[in-house]
Amino acid sequence: MCETKNSHTLSDYQTGLEFAKQQDQKDILAPYRHRFHIPRDQSGNELVYLCGNSLGLQPKSTKEYINQELEDWANLGVEGHHEAMHPWLPYHEFLTENMAKVVGAKPIEVVVMNTLTANLHFMMVSFYKPTTTRYKILIEADAFPSDKYAVESQLRHHGFDDKNGLILWKPREELYHYEDLEAIMAQQGDAIALILIGNTNYYTGQFFDMKRITQLGHSYGCKVGFDCAHGAGNVQLNLHDSGTDFAVWCTYKYLNSGPGNLAGAFVHERHAFDKNINRFTGWWSHNKQTRFNMRQEFDVLPGAEGWQLSNPPILAMAAIRASLDIYAEVGMESLTAKSKKLTGYFEFLLKQLGDDAIRIITPENPDERGCQLSIQVKNTDKTLFDKLTASGVIADWREPDVIRCAPVPLYNSFEDVYKMVEKLAHL
Ligand SMILES: *Cc1c(COP(=O)(O)O)cnc(C)c1O
Repeated sequence: MCETKNSHTLSDYQTGLEFAKQQDQKDILAPYRHRFHIPRDQSGNELVYLCGNSLGLQPKSTKEYINQELEDWANLGVEGHHEAMHPWLPYHEFLTENMAKVVGAKPIEVVVMNTLTANLHFMMVSFYKPTTTRYKILIEADAFPSDKYAVESQLRHHGFDDKNGLILWKPREELYHYEDLEAIMAQQGDAIALILIGNTNYYTGQFFDMKRITQLGHSYGCKVGFDCAHGAGNVQLNLHDSGTDFAVWCTYKYLNSGPGNLAGAFVHERHAFDKNINRFTGWWSHNKQTRFNMRQEFDVLPGAEGWQLSNPPILAMAAIRASLDIYAEVGMESLTAKSKKLTGYFEFLLKQLGDDAIRIITPENPDERGCQLSIQVKNTDKTLFDKLTASGVIADWREPDVIRCAPVPLYNSFEDVYKMVEKLAHL
């Protein structure tokens, strides 16, 4: 593309490769790139991987963490529940504190369990309590399909019509405006039982003010939940302060835990000791002290742990532990600080191309986005994206005309970003 602007070679100061390399030299997080496996092409050259919003890269330490559990299992058998280096019985607890830090929650509010859409359903079992007059669910119009299918099925499950019961918060062009949400609430707030929003929109990368949405929802008597799949590990979430009733997120995107790995769930502290909340339960939601007496009356655990069902898959959790240990070392504060610089640089270079066919649909305000930029490329089709892939850039394509790119501060460099824009300019 960019036929008209091929004269732009990005060779000026701040737009050249040298500048990008200097930024990498100054970057205190640059060494972390070497703690990840960076995918390579067939000749062995590192690819420009900008797809951490879809599947995060593998920490080099992951193998050791999983191998430890394999060895403990081989050597100890069932005794590993107590005797493994990291005993399996309380294994999920080894994840809690670090995960709570990532999402800005108290440990009692967080648990790793199940997968994302499953957790969404379990949270709705507890927090979607429709009545004949208040039964609707509000989501953003372009919600991630799994979330939309999940809420539609919840409506049907409770005997409601999944068209009539679903209220869509529509964007103007691509972005969502709070005034539009407020207008919906003023009209229909009393009929809405639950507001469920993807806190960082998967398509545009727009990051919502969760506190504002929660306060609005609560003021009308609604329950509020967020799907933080594109927020966890990407932006500062402050889930506790947001006041949201619940949240869910996956760990295989920004949290680098491996394909299809377990998900997180957050239940606000104010619900932690409420034994009357209806929920689906299993032996892992039961009191740890008496769990193995086996014939006890059910006695629910306080906090988010009280939503667990099963004893969890340790091999999968080992990979999450490997990733969270890196997050604990780095901290969300320095990650988001680099993220703002890296994505700001990306945006600057794209604008520098001066190409009318390129439009960034992600919000310009750094506080209303994470690292992802969604780039609309007009007057073209997927062949452009295929050429970009062939040139060694891994991003992702969303119909009809959007390329999503996520320069991830943990392992992406300023040089990655430079190379991506340079290649785009010469397609
Ligand atoms: C990635 C993603 C999912 C995927 O759900 P799984 O249950 O993990 O397959 C769901 N919702 C959102 C918002 C996502 O970004």
